[in-house]
Amino acid sequence: MTFGRLGSGSPTPLDGREWDVAVVGAGPAGTTAAHLLAKEGHTVLLLDRAPFPRDKACGDALIPDTLNSLRRLGLYEEVRQVAQRLGTLSAYSPAGIRVDIPGEFLTVRRYTFDALLLQGAVDNGATFHVAPVVSIDSRADRVRLTTRDGLTVTAKVGIVATGADTSLFRGGSTPRPSAPSGVALRCYVRSPVSIDRLIISYDRSIVPGYAWIFPLGDGLYNVGCGIFYRHERKRRINLRKTFATFVETIPQARDLWETQCSATSLVGARLRCGLDASMAYDGARVIGIGEVIATTFPFTGEGIGKAMETGEIAAASVAESLRQGTTDALARFPTILERRVAPRYRGYRRAENWVAQHWLADLVARRVQRSPSLGKVAAGIMSETEDPRALFSWKAILPSLRTWRSARRSGT
Ligand SMILES: Cc1cc2nc3c(=O)[nH]c(=O)nc-3n(C[C@H](O)[C@H](O)[C@H](O)COP(=O)(O)OP(=O)(O)OC[C@H]3O[C@@H](n4cnc5c(N)ncnc54)[C@H](O)[C@@H]3O)c2cc1C
Repeated sequence: MTFGRLGSGSPTPLDGREWDVAVVGAGPAGTTAAHLLAKEGHTVLLLDRAPFPRDKACGDALIPDTLNSLRRLGLYEEVRQVAQRLGTLSAYSPAGIRVDIPGEFLTVRRYTFDALLLQGAVDNGATFHVAPVVSIDSRADRVRLTTRDGLTVTAKVGIVATGADTSLFRGGSTPRPSAPSGVALRCYVRSPVSIDRLIISYDRSIVPGYAWIFPLGDGLYNVGCGIFYRHERKRRINLRKTFATFVETIPQARDLWETQCSATSLVGARLRCGLDASMAYDGARVIGIGEVIATTFPFTGEGIGKAMETGEIAAASVAESLRQGTTDALARFPTILERRVAPRYRGYRRAENWVAQHWLADLVARRVQRSPSLGKVAAGIMSETEDPRALFSWKAILPSLRTWRSARRSGT
């Protein structure tokens, strides 16, 4: 699929006009909010520092929460047409116990995916303009954005969706430094080896990091790894070394490497995980969505779906605020996030803590492998009908723990 360059030279005069909404950042979060608000008839200016299509360091995997957001936007079929379709995610525990989780998964390069999302927002009436935003002045009556080339944009409401870059936005009542939660990197490998599933490894040689192989079709694979700082505080992190260990140790990764026809260089980006809803409103006229408020999942590093979902929730809050002519609905946005999406993060945080303890993660994996009902729970976690704590809990692993203890006692 090819795209024209999106956003190079807007035909709409931008200076001097007041917009209903100005959105900064045209990743999954920003384009989703812009799409829905423009569709409702609001005037929306969407700004990004990069002309599109643009690349983004990512694993390129779309899990069910992303697919659900795409369905609600009416873009699911279009994305599916250009994506690789996969029916299984295989997760490997620290001891290499494999758990196959059935489900619907797509992979598509962010270069293509983000341009499709942006095109969807533009088709619905949003105006896209390429310019790095350097400051936001959020007042009681209006928001003023300034771009690096000196343009001033005025809007009734501002939405910040700048991903892991928080330099523009410190929401919440007490501005504080906001450190990233981790970092991940990836490359593209071309190989004749055939892998027909998503692979995520929590092998003991890389935990508390995680690593993946995601097939993109036609012999192309996205291969990468990430690390969460919380568990790596005391050690110096060398993610490239973690990647090398993955490629040397894990059979599928080794196969890909040994047979590769080509591999791109590693590209990395920071991760902001765990949801910080308190950052989502600045107390005046700006809200934050997506990774800027840490919407990426701990444990898996997946974040496209929740970035889009916060874009959807934000669009509803902003539309209500514009209808009412007050900021009350913006002020309620963090509470809505707490109620609707925060519980899932608590579950993923638990899973991340458990995986850092190898033996616990192995017990969970063994239980899931042996118990069809827990297998269904694992599939339910992926499709968001189950909380991760249903699996990462003492109740779920107790039978395995008893077997393990009695085996130790009897010395078998
Ligand atoms: C290596 C890696 C692998 C990952 N793999 C997966 C995966 O397989 N699946 C998954 O679901 N998630 C994955 N994630 C997480 C996912 O990439 C993020 O959760 C997601 O991109 C967040 O979307 P967003 O819209 O909030 O931000 P982004 O996608 O980062 O978009 C932010 C946009 O803001 C723009 N911007 C920033 N600052 C400014 C500024 N000052 N002015 C104008 N524009 C600005 C940027 O150019 C960018 O286009 C991965 C992350 C990494 C680092």
